[in-house]
Amino acid sequence: MIPHISDIQAEVAREWGIRKRDIISPRRYRPYVVPRHIAMWLSYELTTASYSMIGRLFERDHTTVMHGVRNARKILRRCMATRRQALNVLQRIEAMKYRCAVVGCVNTARPGKDVCAEHVAGENR
Ligand SMILES: [Zn+2]
Repeated sequence: MIPHISDIQAEVAREWGIRKRDIISPRRYRPYVVPRHIAMWLSYELTTASYSMIGRLFERDHTTVMHGVRNARKILRRCMATRRQALNVLQRIEAMKYRCAVVGCVNTARPGKDVCAEHVAGENR
């Protein structure tokens, strides 16, 4: 399953303690720039979206996204704290794959099923 860029933005925002709209905002405020670039990098690595498609979801053009992805890689090489935060986001995105497919349900899906135990029972009625 390919994650939604919107979920990547939300999880990065949560990890950095900022709002999702700060990730998308045009502000070049440093506490927003690093998570914004990490979110661009994760979007590039975890989805099949092109730089321009990612750009649309960050309200930026493709060259800005290319720069952001490159800068994120540089930061990740140099900064262990950022690497740890990016890993936390990756783990949460990974966990989403196993979430119950019923909208609004936060339970874990049963092994080999798309839904949780509660919703599996509901299916058989
Ligand atoms: Zn469920």
